[in-house]
Amino acid sequence: MTFRAPGCSRSPGHLEKCADCAREFAGWQQSQALVSTLGPAKVPEDLALRLRVAISQESRNSARERLSRFHIRWENTFQPFLLRAAAASPAPYSWLEQQPC
Ligand SMILES: [Zn+2]
Repeated sequence: MTFRAPGCSRSPGHLEKCADCAREFAGWQQSQALVSTLGPAKVPEDLALRLRVAISQESRNSARERLSRFHIRWENTFQPFLLRAAAASPAPYSWLEQQPC
């Protein structure tokens, strides 16, 4: 592993010559040692369930599903207005009057 502090040039044996890089490298080694004492991370017991739920939600958000939900929202929002407008309009009656018997 090559270690170099920002602003330092890379050369063989640099850590022996540069106190800044040596101090930062020692800090990294200390952090690495502390992390290694933590041991392996334990997998949550409900991970499989959470993954299935997340995958299900993602598949639900497919383009087709989004379009379908938009279509339903569009109908629920505008259909009542269109029905009222159609009922209030004299157009259907005039159309009926023009039809031959
Ligand atoms: Zn250095």
